[in-house]
Amino acid sequence: MSEQDRYGIRPGEVAVKGPVVSDASLQFIGRIRTPFQTRADCPRQGDMEAGPVCTLEIAEKWRLALVGLEKFGFGDVLYWLDQSRRDLVHQRPGHSNAPVGTFAIRSPVRPNPIGLSRVAIVELREDAVLVRGLDCLDKTPLLDIKPNRCVHAPS
Ligand code: SAM
Repeated sequence: MSEQDRYGIRPGEVAVKGPVVSDASLQFIGRIRTPFQTRADCPRQGDMEAGPVCTLEIAEKWRLALVGLEKFGFGDVLYWLDQSRRDLVHQRPGHSNAPVGTFAIRSPVRPNPIGLSRVAIVELREDAVLVRGLDCLDKTPLLDIKPNRCVHAPS
């Protein structure tokens, strides 16, 4: 049984019927290496202070896009939660008894399973960024990195 099947629908949850429509095209800019091999290993949200250092591996053609990131101590990382189902409108989070709307929670299960984490930038390399604050599975596809607008690293 796949991990996705194991995380099937719970009593009280509601799925939409029909095919999941995909009409936007995204390109992955790399992948994220984390120590988390199963969803049970992942924290519900990352921790910028105590979380493990994770590596954003940047695809070769996007590495020049890292220039200037060294000025920032924090940033936002967007990633594609590729193991998620995409058809639930009501969900019952594990810590709750009552079903709730998908857009009222930060569950990975959503029509477009984009994850967003604020991270601390630990080290910038030519081909990678080391960060703390992630909550995703190892090898999760990376969508984007955005520096924090206000907080510059001390010079
Ligand atoms: N921090 C992001 C956010 O707020 O948008 C994601 C939060 S989501 C609650 C994090 C959870 O997603 C993890 O605890 C794990 O259960 C699950 N997860 C992590 N990586 C995943 C992946 N690649 N595909 C599907 N689910 C994943």
